[in-house]
Amino acid sequence: MTDFTATRALFDLPEGVIYLDGNSLGPLPRAAADRVAQAVKDEWGGMLITAWNRAGWMEQPRRLGDRIGRLIGAAPGTVMVGDTLSLKVVQALHAALTLRPGRRVVLSDNGNFPTDLYVAQGLLAALGPGYELRTVAPEHVADHIDETVAVLMLTEVDYRTGRRHDMAALTRKAHAVHALTLWDLAHSAGALPVDVTAARADFAAGCTYKYLNGGPGAPAFVYVAPEHQQIAPLLSGWLGHEAPFAFDPDYRPGAGIERMRIGTPPVLQMAALDAALDIWDGVDMVALRARSVELSELFIAEVEANCPALTLASPRDPALRGSQVGFRHPEGYAIMQALIARGVIGDFRAPDILRFGITPLYLGAEDIRRAVVILREILEKGLWDRPEYRARAAVT
Ligand SMILES: *Cc1c(COP(=O)(O)O)cnc(C)c1O
Repeated sequence: MTDFTATRALFDLPEGVIYLDGNSLGPLPRAAADRVAQAVKDEWGGMLITAWNRAGWMEQPRRLGDRIGRLIGAAPGTVMVGDTLSLKVVQALHAALTLRPGRRVVLSDNGNFPTDLYVAQGLLAALGPGYELRTVAPEHVADHIDETVAVLMLTEVDYRTGRRHDMAALTRKAHAVHALTLWDLAHSAGALPVDVTAARADFAAGCTYKYLNGGPGAPAFVYVAPEHQQIAPLLSGWLGHEAPFAFDPDYRPGAGIERMRIGTPPVLQMAALDAALDIWDGVDMVALRARSVELSELFIAEVEANCPALTLASPRDPALRGSQVGFRHPEGYAIMQALIARGVIGDFRAPDILRFGITPLYLGAEDIRRAVVILREILEKGLWDRPEYRARAAVT
């Protein structure tokens, strides 16, 4: 069992803040600041260029990949860290398409996160005529998996509503028509138990700055199933070469997952991520999930009992949700700003969703109750109805 009072003490949260946005940017693990300072002073400052060897900077992406692998059910040597999630989706999608050369359809859902759809559009356009990104409503995905589909590209947990696809069932269905799957785990890794091996996912990718708490700009990860590791990479950068320091003019892919590397990794970001992953070593994902469901159910019950103006946007059945809860209100943006001004930090997703991340590592039942008391007051007294709360910031 995981002691969630103990995990809370491992985070540096500002006094008085109830943080319900760990699904967007995880908070600072206490150990991360020191770890980054050490990487800056001792490694960069003290070792200079020799740190690539002496401090293990070169192996860091693979080492951290294996640490994340444990959280998503991936075997050692199947996960690589680096770059951004947008880039890792491009890499994985292209790799999957090369494995189904006779097919040209990528099937996704229209609730998918925009960058996934945008990069798919860009990649398919670059591949030439005939390629198609087919998007259907999330609940109709299963009905559209047919022999034309090369790759089923889905985000397991919807970023707005928290609705969760059945990764194993949809992958089975895709495989039955010889299609491959690419799962975006942005709202899954560190949010719920994931088992890419048991689900037989072909490719997966995710980010580390959300539930994993790796910090703003922390690198993404990509998973390639063992049977697909011989793919020819689209982004054939020098660090994915078999022998980067041979400086061969011709590309030869590195062994296995190494070929998903591109260029120089973000060493300081990885130091922060490494410290964040130390916390995960002590977390039982089944216990985390149970606690997440318990807190989410409490949150929904409290909001529905106290804030009748809000409508649940997430599935009511916890089995169909990830670890976030959304509520709709036409003035959702202003209401969220009023909440943030009072120390309850969630976020807003257009057009009308107030989004709340439920993260048991540093949130308890008291926080949930207290957040709803504040939300209720804002709604009852119309405290959100002020010009400063309606002014849209760049990041919502
Ligand atoms: C957060 C998120 C992203 C972000 O991609 P970046 O390249 O890290 O900016 C992509 N896809 C999904 C599903 C997300 O939730």
